[in-house]
Amino acid sequence: MSKNWFETDKCLIGGAWVAPIGGETLALENPSTGAEMARIARGGPADIDAAVGAAQAALDGVWGQKTALERGRILTDMSRAVLEHVDHLADLEAADVGKPLKQARADAVALARYFEFYGGACDKVHGQTIPYLEGYTVYTLREPHGVTGHIVPWNYPMQIIGRSVGAALAMGNACVLKPAEEACLTALAIGQIGIEAGLPEGALNIVPGLGAEAGAALSGHTGIHHISFTGSVATGELIQQAAGRNVIPVTLELGGKSPQVVFDDADLDAALPFLVNAGIQNAGQTCSASSRILVQRGIYDRVTEMMAAKYRDLRVGPAMHDLDVGPLISVRQKAIVEGFVKAADPAQILAQAVIAEGVPENGHYVAPTLFGGITPDDPLAQDEVFGPIQVLIPFEDEADAVQIANGTAYGLVASVWTRDGARQMRMAKKLRAGQVFINNYGAGGGVELPFGGVGKSGHGREKGFEALYGFSVLKTVAAHHG
Ligand code: NAD
Repeated sequence: MSKNWFETDKCLIGGAWVAPIGGETLALENPSTGAEMARIARGGPADIDAAVGAAQAALDGVWGQKTALERGRILTDMSRAVLEHVDHLADLEAADVGKPLKQARADAVALARYFEFYGGACDKVHGQTIPYLEGYTVYTLREPHGVTGHIVPWNYPMQIIGRSVGAALAMGNACVLKPAEEACLTALAIGQIGIEAGLPEGALNIVPGLGAEAGAALSGHTGIHHISFTGSVATGELIQQAAGRNVIPVTLELGGKSPQVVFDDADLDAALPFLVNAGIQNAGQTCSASSRILVQRGIYDRVTEMMAAKYRDLRVGPAMHDLDVGPLISVRQKAIVEGFVKAADPAQILAQAVIAEGVPENGHYVAPTLFGGITPDDPLAQDEVFGPIQVLIPFEDEADAVQIANGTAYGLVASVWTRDGARQMRMAKKLRAGQVFINNYGAGGGVELPFGGVGKSGHGREKGFEALYGFSVLKTVAAHHG
């Protein structure tokens, strides 16, 4: 694929790549080196306004006329195009986000799967007929909201665009996407893939820019009818307020402090890779990262030793070297994570990974760190660190485990490791989370699995078939025919 496959410093509006109206660009940094790798558009309120207008025009025009079957075929073609470009997309994501190449490749494959899943689901969303009064026929229709806004973060651009834009397009909405200023190359590539796969102009518009400018303009725009946001709690609050002012529905996915609960009858060999990988995947910058490992007292020392040994084997280096862990996204994120480590008691550090020699000195590398003996009220056990940090917390029995697991403001994902079937069922019911895994853990995975949080992890569900209900509006038709 040519280097000029798409222009990095443009917005996609109404099917055309256009310079931002203000004419300004922002530097995009490669987190593995700290060097500038591209310029991206600094979109602002005027660009968002144009994008919302183009989306509405698409709904009033060609895109709005497409049948579910036709929308499905376009999404399926987009899925194929993603797979054709999978290596290039993986290179872009690895360079832009700093994630090891194999993780970036898995994200590109997941993006294709989202478009495939939602392409196939388009014409399978049925309404109902409802028994009513004599002389009536009543049925329901699932209709698009209209223009949907999508504000995505930098940690999993491809996966998050796949799950939200994919489902929104499937239901016939027209989208305005605001990618993160820290990582937005694959968002632009997806725009180009849409053009090449025959997505009608205006169905997907992309305006890169800063959160306080393009993001705030999109979330507050009176021309949007739904907004989907993934990112921090603080920004999520602002998005919900903006949505409230316009009285539109909002989906918020705001991260978590997701626990894995390991009982003394667990298959520890099976659990070990999940316990560690769910914490260090994408350098811990994963909304559904498992940052708390709750271990029953009788096996606490053994699990500690097993995890510590794994940590000491982890290799950290540039994304393109494809090791276990890459750099963090930015100087700012590195400072946040190092702040947590510095504030902690060094005696509680059980193990640290080693950063490979010779990594670029301006890359944002942090050694993955495992903490032990942490009390449930410790900041490391309560706050989302968003870095490669995990804490081990001992517990006594089932009731204790539930109390600790549910004892944060968040509730995104949880897992239970036990061979006791009755305990599996009890725990799945008692854990406060949008997803519970039994004897496995699915950080970021599961295109087919409805996903979302409770509490400060947010509300609404994306992924799976469920997302199609969130990205549509139910209309009831009551016909009186006597
Ligand atoms: P953020 O929530 O500020 O940014 C996410 C997206 O929101 C970006 O596209 C950004 O441009 C946009 N945005 C920012 N301010 C906005 C505003 N006022 N109005 C509308 N859009 C706005 O997150 P961040 O600053 O990149 O990271 C800060 C912390 O958030 C991290 O340390 C981490 O804890 C958390 N985070 C969570 C996730 C997740 O997947 N849940 C993703 C990224 C960051």
